[in-house]
Amino acid sequence: MQLRVARLCLDCEEVHDDYQCPVCASDQFTYLTRWVPVPERRQRPRPAPAPSKELEAYRRLIHGEPEPPKGRFLARALVGLGAAGVVGLFLGGRRARSSSDGDPGSGEK
Ligand SMILES: [Zn+2]
Repeated sequence: MQLRVARLCLDCEEVHDDYQCPVCASDQFTYLTRWVPVPERRQRPRPAPAPSKELEAYRRLIHGEPEPPKGRFLARALVGLGAAGVVGLFLGGRRARSSSDGDPGSGEK
């Protein structure tokens, strides 16, 4: 049991971590941390997580570093998806504009 979750039963002085005392079934308790200070749990910052494959691919794209053969396909797919999205936005915007101009029943005058 960790000190931060330890509870002292106010009726029978049992130390437990439940909502109810396991000995006398009382729900009157107080946390032991009221009297025993607990140091901050994280003294050191968490170590940086290992970089993901996608992050590495982006990094290589930005810095122009050579890619391993495996990541080349992923990077090209990401670039292709981005380009297709930009073209789709451009064409979709033009199409919506031209249809609203040419539609007589749209109500815009
Ligand atoms: Zn108790």
